[in-house]
Amino acid sequence: MGRFFFIHRRLHFQPMDLQQTLARIRELTDALTEHNHRYYILDDPSVSDAAYDALLRELQDLETKHPELKLADSPTQRVGSQPLAGFEQLTHSIPMLSLSNAMDDEELTSFDVRVRKDLELDQLDYVVEPKLDGLGVELVYVDGVFTAGSTRGDGFTGENITKNLRTLKALPLRLRDKERPIPPYLEVRGEVFMGHADFEQLNERQLDQEKQPFANPRNAAAGSLRQLDSRITASRNLLINLYAPGQIDNFAVESHMEFIQALKDWGFPVNDLYELCPTIQNVIQFHNKLEQNRENLEYDIDGTVTKVNRLDYQNRLGIRSRSPRWAIAGKFKARQEITTILSIVPSVGRTGAITPVANLEPVHLGGVMVARATLHNQDEIDRKDVREGDTVVVQRAGDVIPEVVKAILDKRPAKSQPYFIPDRCPACDGHVVRLEGEAKHYCQNISCAAQIKGRIEHFVAKRCLDIDGFGTKLVSQLVDENLIGSIADIYALNLEQLANLERMAEKSALNIMGAIDSSKSADLWRLIHGLGIRNVGEHISKVIANKYGSLQALGEATVEDLEATHEVGPIVARGLVEFFKDSDNLEILGKLSQHGLNPIIDVSARSEGIFSGLSFVFTGKLEHFNRDSARVLVESLGGASANSISKKTDYLVAGPGAGSKIEKANKLGVKILTEDEFRTMVGAE
Ligand SMILES: [Zn+2]
Repeated sequence: MGRFFFIHRRLHFQPMDLQQTLARIRELTDALTEHNHRYYILDDPSVSDAAYDALLRELQDLETKHPELKLADSPTQRVGSQPLAGFEQLTHSIPMLSLSNAMDDEELTSFDVRVRKDLELDQLDYVVEPKLDGLGVELVYVDGVFTAGSTRGDGFTGENITKNLRTLKALPLRLRDKERPIPPYLEVRGEVFMGHADFEQLNERQLDQEKQPFANPRNAAAGSLRQLDSRITASRNLLINLYAPGQIDNFAVESHMEFIQALKDWGFPVNDLYELCPTIQNVIQFHNKLEQNRENLEYDIDGTVTKVNRLDYQNRLGIRSRSPRWAIAGKFKARQEITTILSIVPSVGRTGAITPVANLEPVHLGGVMVARATLHNQDEIDRKDVREGDTVVVQRAGDVIPEVVKAILDKRPAKSQPYFIPDRCPACDGHVVRLEGEAKHYCQNISCAAQIKGRIEHFVAKRCLDIDGFGTKLVSQLVDENLIGSIADIYALNLEQLANLERMAEKSALNIMGAIDSSKSADLWRLIHGLGIRNVGEHISKVIANKYGSLQALGEATVEDLEATHEVGPIVARGLVEFFKDSDNLEILGKLSQHGLNPIIDVSARSEGIFSGLSFVFTGKLEHFNRDSARVLVESLGGASANSISKKTDYLVAGPGAGSKIEKANKLGVKILTEDEFRTMVGAE
């Protein structure tokens, strides 16, 4: 461990003068930058997370006290900052061109023939790299400090997403000059993308927050990068790899391989799956090898990029109609095959959704053997008329789960029968229902073995019962060791059972027991939300909690009565009635009540709130509220609050720094209030 990494907190008690403070800020910024490089680029950290956090906190404190001393490359910028009203445009000093495509080996071969003919050469080296499936970006460094970044846009002009790019942990805010001098002006290009695990976690969070999940990792990466609020980008764990130069002053290398080495020397993350190929046969071999391996990668690639290695050759070949003549994108093959369906079985997901799955005669598809394919839902089965025994076309779409595209009808066996999803759950034998307006069938037993972990995780989550310390790992441990089989069992746990779990300290066990106990006095809406009833999210939970006042009253409500509730539609109403009809569910609710979990709101004593029927939107910086507390206040007074302005909005409460929402409010004739005016309305002043 070098001297560089070894920085103690200062122990003297005299206040630092400005000069000392600046020196300390520089020292901390350098140390954090170095740790970041070791962690994200070299994968070889030299300090613990706690030690890193301590340095970061010290830097944050100093910067808060002395904002004028904050450095341009300060790692504190990675957490994001205040939302922007919109993106500015940034023009690329050299256009970001697109590549021409080679659809198969033959087209790669003719690319090579043309290149060698133009250069009048018998042989030349190519570099082959994976083509990442993400969003193209350009980064600008002035004197080694990251100063601007933009999307590819139309190739000539992109969006200025500097603030968002700063939050990417692997993106160097300052370049390293130990191995190689840094050019005074440097533009580099690369791809921002998202790994499969982060993509799945993000989509789970989206679903928990009742937001639309992203269709694929590329959309998720693009959506995360193009956020006006960089704090959202900071929370998304985006990856970046650099692979191409833009304009670079005072810099000369002879080949693309050397350029890759320069990127590494400067501390940029580079994808390691590149290869130098002396012949087009080697290019094709490497391309095919990556195609075979793509399923094993933690991220999506959709082909390869082959570049002429020598830069003087690249210059001689030049550009033709917006594509460089010295590079080509090799596309991976469309992945469709024909096979037969051996059987169709229902499979229960974490949320209780039943997906019909076709067991296939195993078939080679895009480098992997595929033995199962999804049929999505009953409507898809009906539409495609897919049956057991059918000969079908299967494909891997969007790099995720293989699906059945269609049945080949003239190969259908004589006595085949249409397939219907059974009305009993294959995991727990519980009732399977399909609500009107829903594509999927669901097992609605809240203790279903296939769903129990997901349901418990939801139940204990912050927006539900908020049981602190009850994380995913603990849920897994408890379910796997048969200590809990339903949400009610959480309240039957004892200290000894918890403390005996592997890696559980007695103090943590005590804390968790305390958190479980205090969750018994949680608000009714939290319990309703925690039950995880289809389509009943946080907001609807609050609405029905306020109307009915107890689980008993809610359980006795009819579809008509529920539908008469403001904001409760027929799908939600029917889902609720179905849920409370289920005897397994009622048993769990009975147990929860026995454990003391039976919150009641006295609805008879409550009058209509002063904001009843009114809708609020908050924007800008508020002094007395944050967005959450303002929302809770409005809701407690019978009003509603939303994130964006629409014709239904009655009031926009705008603090300093409010952006485009003011304009929109004016356009729609929405009344605008200052925070003080709002406080007067609620009687706070
Ligand atoms: Zn089930």
